[in-house]
Amino acid sequence: MKTKLTFIFIIIGFIVNAQSPQVQELGNLYGAGKYDQVINKVNEYLKTEPDKVEYKLILGRALADIGNYNEAIPHLQFAVDNDNDNSWIKAWGLGYLGTCYYMLSDFEKSESALKSCINVNATKNATNFSARRVGIFGYDSCYNSWTIKESKNIRFHFQNMSDYEIQQYMESRENAFEEINTFFESSLPKKIDFFVWNSRDDAKQIVLRDLGFAEPSCCIIHSYFQQSRGHELTHVLSHYTSGISSKTRFINEGTAVCFDLSNQNRLKKVKSWIRTNDEKIEIKEIWKNGRDYPEEILYPLAGLFVEELIEKYGKEKYLELFKNQTYENAQVVYGLDFFLFIKEFEEKINV
Ligand SMILES: [Zn+2]
Repeated sequence: MKTKLTFIFIIIGFIVNAQSPQVQELGNLYGAGKYDQVINKVNEYLKTEPDKVEYKLILGRALADIGNYNEAIPHLQFAVDNDNDNSWIKAWGLGYLGTCYYMLSDFEKSESALKSCINVNATKNATNFSARRVGIFGYDSCYNSWTIKESKNIRFHFQNMSDYEIQQYMESRENAFEEINTFFESSLPKKIDFFVWNSRDDAKQIVLRDLGFAEPSCCIIHSYFQQSRGHELTHVLSHYTSGISSKTRFINEGTAVCFDLSNQNRLKKVKSWIRTNDEKIEIKEIWKNGRDYPEEILYPLAGLFVEELIEKYGKEKYLELFKNQTYENAQVVYGLDFFLFIKEFEEKINV
């Protein structure tokens, strides 16, 4: 959702501020997520117009979007320093600089860039982009009283917990990280910043959504203190398996539930929901239209499905599916036998 909105913002930015067909073309490619093509083309254009700030901005953004933060920074900085009109170019440059520095764990520069973007106040979208990051990256003044503690893989931020609770919490999440990652074997670009809230209401005011959630592309988790050990960690760790081209709610949430380390009886939950709601569940339909189903059924059902899929066909095939999580790709990955697997699964739950 976030990425789609960002695409729309930049497209709108380019339409409103269109200066040349080249800039429009780059904006279209960027909006379609074709970052490699953007980088190739803009490097070509920069040979004849090396100081064009629009080119420098889009190059910096595309590099940041593919995770080349160090390489992105000088281009973004150039756009910021040379946009004398304090326009949308400077604003987006600062917003993206704030993200790059965050990913490089240079929190001071990150905070300063995001707050400068807000002060420039050039476009509502860039301001909102940065204001949201000030909230989720931990720069709002509400975090001043929080306790920060680091373990091997995680930088924890605690709203209000005793030293003993903090120690227990850190140990259990660090163990969960290791346990889950024996499956995914991911390397993360930075430590996970893990915010642990005691108040859901306070969180909603600062991060503007309900707990808990992960922002895998930024290695961030915001969690209520009583959530499962593994769900949000799985969202982050699974995101860094190789070559993901498309996610679906059914597989992505199913994976997070499957590895939540909660030991819940999901079959019982699924059957009870089906009985209470007097509805039959068709896997193909819930897979394709996952957004139309409430968490109460989608989460345990998808979690159970993923668990049985891995049990039957193994890890390698599952990671193959995880790259492109569509129903169609599952048919390719699992072959003809998959139809039977789904039929048996549906018969088991719909009783
Ligand atoms: Zn989730």
